[in-house]
Amino acid sequence: MKFEDLNLAPAIQKAVAEQGYETPTPIQAQAIPAVLAGHDLLAGAQTGTGKTAAFTLPMLHKLTMSRSKENKFGVYGVRALVLTPTRELAAQVEESVRNYGKYLQLTSTVIFGGVGMNPQVARIKKGVDILVATPGRLLDLQQQGLLDLSTVEILVLDEADRMLDMGFIHDVKKILALVPKDKQSLLFSATFSDEIRELANNLLKDPQSIQV
Ligand code: AMP
Repeated sequence: MKFEDLNLAPAIQKAVAEQGYETPTPIQAQAIPAVLAGHDLLAGAQTGTGKTAAFTLPMLHKLTMSRSKENKFGVYGVRALVLTPTRELAAQVEESVRNYGKYLQLTSTVIFGGVGMNPQVARIKKGVDILVATPGRLLDLQQQGLLDLSTVEILVLDEADRMLDMGFIHDVKKILALVPKDKQSLLFSATFSDEIRELANNLLKDPQSIQV
């Protein structure tokens, strides 16, 4: 399979080609068509398999093909939310979003704890399409009334097993209650404990399962 066979927007294919990628990895070949078709996804994949592009590329494609809505602050609301366990991973994922989306008119930002809130708040208040975040800081901002998640169309839980290992289950559950029921959800995890399965059962609707 070639990237062209995946029918991603030409602007996305161009950015992918500039990364030097020639063929989709196995997780990309399976996940991208499933996400483009609108399915929820349960994906078993380790780091290094190309999982970031597996969710980022179809997410960018879907967002660029439809329009954003205003949120309660009167700015364009968050359309895609990616939760990651660590700030390092959040920063990496957001960098990938910017790389793959460099020829698109979509905006992104990253939010994590351990740094000042004000620049993150200022950025969100301007309106952002794609938010990559760690659960604790995201919830903090939401609970202070600074963040509206009611416009989220696509939710990604990246490295869900690590997120639970780090004790984020309660935060994740609270965040899931803040996003619309009617959304597309993608869950990526390297391992599948009973706790992950329960989270997946609660979140995912008739998901396609992928294991690489
Ligand atoms: P990830 O599993 O998302 O952390 O990606 C692992 C590495 O694989 C990253 O350095 C990516 O830039 C690279 N990568 C992702 N997709 C491809 C691809 N289709 N071809 C070659 N390299 C890729």
